[in-house]
Amino acid sequence: KILDNKVALVTGAGSGIGLAIAKLYAKEGAKVIVSDINEEHGKSAVKEIKSAGGEATFVKADTSNPEQVEALVKATVETYGRLDIACNNAGIGGETNQTGDYSLDGWKKVIDINLDGVFYGCKYELTQMEKNGGGVIVNIASIHGSVAAPLSSAYTSTKHAVVGLTKNIGAEYGQKNIRCNAVGPGYIDTPLLNQLDAEHKKALIAKHPMGRLGTSEEVAELVLFLSSEKSSFMTGGYYLVDGGYTAV
Ligand code: NAD
Repeated sequence: KILDNKVALVTGAGSGIGLAIAKLYAKEGAKVIVSDINEEHGKSAVKEIKSAGGEATFVKADTSNPEQVEALVKATVETYGRLDIACNNAGIGGETNQTGDYSLDGWKKVIDINLDGVFYGCKYELTQMEKNGGGVIVNIASIHGSVAAPLSSAYTSTKHAVVGLTKNIGAEYGQKNIRCNAVGPGYIDTPLLNQLDAEHKKALIAKHPMGRLGTSEEVAELVLFLSSEKSSFMTGGYYLVDGGYTAV
């Protein structure tokens, strides 16, 4: 198995893309810290992983709270002794409004979780990985790390920023045996899209040349590759898994 003896941490692992990543990491031999703000979903993810023969532990954390993220990394090391792989996945879609009408509170909420939360994750993960002598980080951005999402300017802004943060980490840690890459999924069929009505969903599907939404498992396969030694010369990059969305 390609992640045998590795210790991995996934935020937002109680649902959707994060859940698929945590399950695939565990299937490939990693011991996984499943973290989420939603305790019920996080615990049920651990149950699912264990019943499939994997190893996982739930640690509750709100990624927009730096103390909780620091404590999450500490709990990972206390539980499994080290940290080799971290996937900063927790994120929200947030308010939808034209930029001129976007509320200040709505803006701040998206920045707190989608950008500050990823920074807090990287900050404490990097410190621990330096102590370990190396590691790998994968940040979940979006196609909206490179193209607009009309009515979601906070989302677009944070995802572009995550791509930038990822480049900086790649540049700074290249000689410290720590790699960091970002992933840009197109629209993926997860509970995040539940807020959309059927018509809006249909219009989104039409924007993907492959004529469908992606699955969480298809995103997880790219994340697994970027988390493993198979991507040993890749850092500071931004990789799409978008059914062709950004090609047209
Ligand atoms: P989801 O809503 O299914 O899952 C997100 C998980 O994150 C939930 O379990 C939620 O409880 C958790 N979470 C939310 N806020 C949190 C916080 N402050 N602290 C800790 N956990 C928190 O969503 P998803 O579709 O799986 O999205 C996961 C990531 O993928 C997000 O960063 C999202 O922006 C990104 N993404 C999603 C899509 C898509 O179409 N679904 C496309 C591109 C990128």
